[in-house]
Amino acid sequence: MVRKLRREGYIHSEALARAMRKVRREAFMPNQYVEYAYAPYSAYPIPPYTGNHTISAPNTYPLFYEPLKVKPGDSCLEVGTGSGYGAALLQELVGEEGKVVSIEANRETYDFGKKNLEDVTYTQVKVVHGDGTKGYPPDAPFDKIVVTASYVRIPQPLKEQLARPGKLIMPVGRSHLQYLTLLEKDADGNVREEVLDSVLYVPLRGEYGYQ
Ligand code: SAH
Repeated sequence: MVRKLRREGYIHSEALARAMRKVRREAFMPNQYVEYAYAPYSAYPIPPYTGNHTISAPNTYPLFYEPLKVKPGDSCLEVGTGSGYGAALLQELVGEEGKVVSIEANRETYDFGKKNLEDVTYTQVKVVHGDGTKGYPPDAPFDKIVVTASYVRIPQPLKEQLARPGKLIMPVGRSHLQYLTLLEKDADGNVREEVLDSVLYVPLRGEYGYQ
């Protein structure tokens, strides 16, 4: 899978290749889909199986993490824990000195993601059950913020909880047309946005998302 994602131009950095080789993706898949754990371009449903919760396709993690340039020591916030797979990769990228906080709004999904992370001993990841559109003030500011669900705009609290400098990435748009958007904040607090790709993600619900 990693070789393929490199060849196809998704993975550029050695750090991400190493992380994706190390994290056992099958540990984050529901039992009935385990045989597809290394299918590079497919997302799969996860509890509670309503269609609004998925483990994202493997190629999308480099799509998000390469432009963010996640590095050892970074403090990261992930909105939408889902399976926990993305959080495990982030923890590998930030290393022992770094910090990963991951928020999941759905209780059943939260239980699934948290258990997966614990089973594979990613116990350093702080998994929180709550509305990630409000960010997570107790650990703000964050060097990097990843939002793995889509809405028409980037929630204001997330922009505010981004460090100077800092980078945030999120699918922005409507339900069937979204643009992966990279927001960069410089050391003076100036912000610029860049559109990278078109993607398809589940809806971001909450106070600063869909009601
Ligand atoms: N990163 C995940 C994929 C998550 S799918 C992985 O690697 O497996 C997106 C998730 O975002 C869904 O589980 C959904 O419940 C969650 N979500 C939607 N709105 C949210 C919000 N306001 N706060 C936290 N999680 C949210």
